[in-house]
Amino acid sequence: MLGSGLTVILIVVIVAALLTREHASTLQAAKRAATNITQLINADVLRNAELYDLALQGLIKATTRDDLSQATPDIRHMVQFDQSIAAPFKGEVLLLDANGAVVADSSTLQPTPRNFANRDYFQVHKQNAQAGLFISRPFKIRCDCDQVWRMAFSRRVEGPNGEFAGVAVATMRLAYFDQLFNRLTIGNGSSVNLLNTRGILLAQQPLLERDMIDKDLSDRPNFKRILREGEGSFQAISTLSGTERLYTFTRVGELPLIVVVALASENVFAPWQRAARLTSGATGVLCIGLLWLTWMLRRELRRRYRAEQVLSELAATDALTGLANRRTLDQRLRLEWDRAQRSTEPLTLLMIDVDHFKAFNDRHGHHGGDEALRTVAQVIGGNIRRPADLAARYGGEEFAVVLPDTDAKGAWVIAEHIRSGVEHLPRVAGAEQPITVSIGMSTWGKHSRISLEALLLSADQALYEAKHTGRNRIVEAGKR
Ligand code: GH3
Ligand code: MG
Ligand code: MG
Repeated sequence: MLGSGLTVILIVVIVAALLTREHASTLQAAKRAATNITQLINADVLRNAELYDLALQGLIKATTRDDLSQATPDIRHMVQFDQSIAAPFKGEVLLLDANGAVVADSSTLQPTPRNFANRDYFQVHKQNAQAGLFISRPFKIRCDCDQVWRMAFSRRVEGPNGEFAGVAVATMRLAYFDQLFNRLTIGNGSSVNLLNTRGILLAQQPLLERDMIDKDLSDRPNFKRILREGEGSFQAISTLSGTERLYTFTRVGELPLIVVVALASENVFAPWQRAARLTSGATGVLCIGLLWLTWMLRRELRRRYRAEQVLSELAATDALTGLANRRTLDQRLRLEWDRAQRSTEPLTLLMIDVDHFKAFNDRHGHHGGDEALRTVAQVIGGNIRRPADLAARYGGEEFAVVLPDTDAKGAWVIAEHIRSGVEHLPRVAGAEQPITVSIGMSTWGKHSRISLEALLLSADQALYEAKHTGRNRIVEAGKR
C-alpha cells in the first residue's frame, strides 16, 4: 500500500509538473505571438508617421525660403505640398500662421478662411518650442461632412529668430488603424489598441464598447503600468471587460504612441485547460485504479497468508490431540539434537505409552478411547513450560516429549508430574482402573557418545522396561 501510495504521489507530481510546464510554454507562445503583432503594427505606424513628418518638414522648409514668394501660386503649392503622402487615409495638409489662420492648404490653391487657434496642437506648439512632431487627440472636423475620427500630426513653424510663426499640420483618418488591425486575427474577447502616452485611445479593433475612441484611459491601473514599463507583457484584470487579459505592449519608436495587444486569458489557455482536464481525469482514474488494485491484492494476499498459516499449523499438528505430530517431532528432535551437539547442553527425550489401552478401548469403545487420549495429551502438554520444549504424539497411544537444556534430574521431575497427573485424572465412568502411563526417559549429556538413533532406542528400551516392571512408572535409560 505504501509503495502504491508513493507511486500515486509520484504520478500526481509528474503530471502536475508537466501541466505547469505546458501552461508556462502556452503563455510564452501567446506572448511571442502578441509581441510579433505589436512589432508589426509598430513598424507600420512608425513608417506612416515618418511620411507625415517628412511632408511637414518639407512644407516648413519650403515656407521659410524667401525665393519661393516670387514663384507662381501653382509652383509654390507644388513645392510646399509633397504628393508622396497622398495615401488613402490622408486628410488635408495645412499651414497656419502665428494666429492660427490657414495660409496654405494642400487641397486648394485658394484656401478658405479658417482658424484653428483653439486646437490642442496649435496651443502646444505656440507654448512649447520643443514639442517636435506632435500628435493630437482624435477629433471630428467641424464642418461635420463625414463624421469620421481623425488625428493630426503637426510641427511648429519658426521665424528667423526662433519665434513662433505658425504650425504645419497634416490630418489622418483613424480608419487607417482599423484597416491595419483588421488584417490581424487575434481570437475572441481580445483586442489590438493604439493609445497615446496621455492615455487617449486612438484605435481599437474590435471595439470593446461603443464610443471608445478618444476615451481617456490614463487613470486605469493597467495603463499606468504599461506607461511605466514601456515595453513587455503582463497578465491583469481588464477594467473594461472585468476578465483577465494578457497585455503585450510596446512604444512606437520615439513617438508618444503605445501599441497594446490585449488577449483574453480564457482564450489563450482554453486548449491548455482542455488538455489539463483530460490529463487530470485520466490520471485520477489511473491512480484510483492503481490504489483499488493494490487494496484488492492486499486483501487477497492476507487471505492467502491466513490460509497458509492454518494449513501449516494443520500440517504440523496431530488432529486428535492437538499436540505436534510425528513429522514435527522428527524435525524438532533433529534440530535440538544438532543444537545440543554444538552447545553441549543436555537433551532429554521422554517416551510415554498409555497402559493397557487396548483393554480400555475394548471397554469404552473407540470414542471413549479417543477422549482418553485427548485428556492424556492435555496433561502432557500442560506439564511442559519452556518455549523450546515439545510434546508430540508419536503414534497410537504413544507420546514423546523433547526437553532441550534439561538434564535427567530436571526431566525426571517433569516425567513424574506427567505420570501422577495422568494417574490422578478423574476416573472415567465404569472404569475399574485409573488411566496410567509408563515413561521411558533417556538423556544425552556432553560425556555420552551416542547417536540420535541410539538415544531414541534407549528411551524406547526404558519404556519397555517400565512396562515390564509393573507399568505406571518412569524408567531412566541405563539405570535400573
Ligand atoms: P500396554 O500397557 O502394554 O501398552 O498395553 P496396550 O493395550 O496399551 O498395548 P497395545 O500396543 O497392544 O495396544 C495399543 C492399543 O491402543 C491398540 C489400539 O486399540 C489403541 N489405539 C491406538 N491408537 C488409537 C487411537 O488413535 N484411538 C483409540 N481409541 N485407540 C487407539
Ligand atoms: Mg503402545
Ligand atoms: Mg499402551
